[in-house]
Amino acid sequence: MKMSLTKKLSIGFLLTAFISIFIAGLVSNYMISKKFSNYLIAEHKTKVDKIATVIDGLYDEQTGISTTNKAEILRYSNAEELYIQVKNATGVIVFTSSSTNLQNKTMMSSMMNDFSSIKPGQYTEDSYPLIKNNKKLGTIVFGYYGTSFLNTGALTFKTTLNHSFFVSILIALIFGLIISIFLSKQISSPLTKITDTANKMRNGDLEARSQVVSKTKEIDDLTISMNYLAETLQNQELLRKRLTSDMAHELRTPLTNLKSHVEALLDKVWEPTEDMLTSFYEEIQRLIKLVEGLNDIAKLEQTSLNLNKSKFNLSLELEKVVTSFEPLYETSGSKINSNLIPNIEVLMDKDKLKQVMYNLLSNSLKYSKINGEVLLTLKSDKDGIIIEVKDNGIGISKKDLPFIFERFYRSDESRDKNTGGAGIGLTIVKAIVEAHTGTISVNSTLGKGSTFFITFPKPILNPDK
Ligand code: ADP
Repeated sequence: MKMSLTKKLSIGFLLTAFISIFIAGLVSNYMISKKFSNYLIAEHKTKVDKIATVIDGLYDEQTGISTTNKAEILRYSNAEELYIQVKNATGVIVFTSSSTNLQNKTMMSSMMNDFSSIKPGQYTEDSYPLIKNNKKLGTIVFGYYGTSFLNTGALTFKTTLNHSFFVSILIALIFGLIISIFLSKQISSPLTKITDTANKMRNGDLEARSQVVSKTKEIDDLTISMNYLAETLQNQELLRKRLTSDMAHELRTPLTNLKSHVEALLDKVWEPTEDMLTSFYEEIQRLIKLVEGLNDIAKLEQTSLNLNKSKFNLSLELEKVVTSFEPLYETSGSKINSNLIPNIEVLMDKDKLKQVMYNLLSNSLKYSKINGEVLLTLKSDKDGIIIEVKDNGIGISKKDLPFIFERFYRSDESRDKNTGGAGIGLTIVKAIVEAHTGTISVNSTLGKGSTFFITFPKPILNPDK
């Protein structure tokens, strides 16, 4: 049977509270009563010693104990609930506090009934020597019950102590119950709300977000992760829809073009010219590029990239890439510059790295404006190396920025520019960078330009390690 979190937590809290209070109560009760009993026994002994000394003083070797002194000893006997007997040297009883000793007295048993929870214990008689001027003159006998040292005050104290333990267990349990219900509600109610949001998402409402604000860190983290998941799912959904329509659009345009041109040729409206055939060829090329792109992406997604790593000088390699791009930039009226720290040795897949640079630098050229300028920088810091590609081209709008590394994603601006791109260049770049345990990010302002940052961690920098 499944139990709700509130119930489970409450029972858990209560059990823990009960067991710990019960054990603590039991142990402390035992310890306190033991100490208390010892204290009372010691106290009793001191008292009896004191009375014995008093009797020593009141005894006269010649006359025994006077009537006044007898009355005084009797007072002690009553006050301390002791049976007192004084015998002289020949064993004759010269004083007794009662005709019978306590064991036979009904008074005592009736008293015990009042404290029936306490065992009367054994009746004991202790003998003390009657000493005067260092001379033994007789014997003093003190008779008492094992618990007679538990006078009324002490007994009340012990019972009150037990009662207060019982009451504190009860109060602690009530508080424990309240606190446990409160705490478990605090945990379970946000969880229920988060589950509600998850259920809404499961039923297709990807706009649902959890509004739970909690002081519990884990719950807060869960809310954040949940909302992040919703955001990602929503973006993916958006992307999937856009991808389908993009693909349809990408395929339809060249196919329609081809179809209408071929129809015109068949109907003999047009004569096949070289220009026309070249344009057919270009359209077919575009289609092939698109399909190859699909294939590349599928490969990237199916298997983790196989890297063919080798040790090489990254600074030199980047310099070569820049040199190879110079003529292309020049013909388009743009400029490419570099600022590379020398002699950075790396262990990487050289061809794949070149592909990354090729994709980024050709994008910067494709999306440049008149007098375009691109700067390739290689920097190094304590964490690793950073490659920066900065352009002053058309830039990327805020709404497109989160998606540009997604398959087939192209901004409206780039479509307008009719660059013939298929929207997979950056997807490939990202896959290669991540296969080298690097990261890629971008800063961009629409109309002003973009900067791509690639960061590779230290091990790439120290191939020998
Ligand atoms: P494409 O083949 O369309 O260039 P990419 O994956 O390389 O595909 O880039 C995806 C999109 O990112 C581009 O369509 C463009 O909108 C944007 N983009 C990439 N690089 C730049 C850049 N340097 N400047 C402006 N926009 C860029």
